[in-house]
Amino acid sequence: MLNPVVAIDGPAASGKSTVARKLAAKLNFVYVDTGAMYRAFAWLALEKNIDPADRAAISGLLESVKFELAISGGAIAMKLNGTDPAPFIREERINAAVSKIAAIPELRERLVIEQRKLRNLSPLVMEGRDIGTVVFTDTIFKFFLDADPVIRAQRRQLQGQADAITKRDQQDSNRAVAPLTKAADATLVDATYDDADAIVGKILQICRDKGLSQAKVDAL
Ligand code: C5P
Repeated sequence: MLNPVVAIDGPAASGKSTVARKLAAKLNFVYVDTGAMYRAFAWLALEKNIDPADRAAISGLLESVKFELAISGGAIAMKLNGTDPAPFIREERINAAVSKIAAIPELRERLVIEQRKLRNLSPLVMEGRDIGTVVFTDTIFKFFLDADPVIRAQRRQLQGQADAITKRDQQDSNRAVAPLTKAADATLVDATYDDADAIVGKILQICRDKGLSQAKVDAL
């Protein structure tokens, strides 16, 4: 039987990551941040002085890159050419570059294949921009988190980050492949005022009403 997947999509700074992480902990599912994967490739491109918008160059990079994605200790472990990119992917230069590289179809194809494989290993809470619309269209547990753009921008500022989220959302929503949009069958969750725990409670209730149960620890 296929492992269950809870898909959580939404724009930048909508609170998706916090909610998805907490939800995964409650369900005992593995939390997957797909944004981290696009950020990792943006980092690699910048390290190699490749323009993240250069489709031919990025396709070339994909031919030679060693991309390792695994589940280790109940969490995702990622390596690019042998290096864990996690310490570098929240830098401001990555915020500015990531939506450009995320528009490249060859990169998206490659990452979607890798993301789908994770379901063979564990039940998942996966967050991103296209999880309900592309990666796991078949899951019945789909949510789209949104929040007032002013509040979202304030959140990023409080995190001390320069991140042009409106620009990033526009780029993500207007790209030709897998644009950021709510899946028709996703539940819209307004995260403007509720705190993360309240949202997690709401999502958990909807999932349980639809028959989702907690994973058995020994199944992971
Ligand atoms: O979630 P996060 O803000 O870290 O994502 C960074 C960027 O990665 C997004 O702005 C988007 O360009 C890209 N992304 C994507 N598809 C996903 C997840 C992230 O295009 N599933």
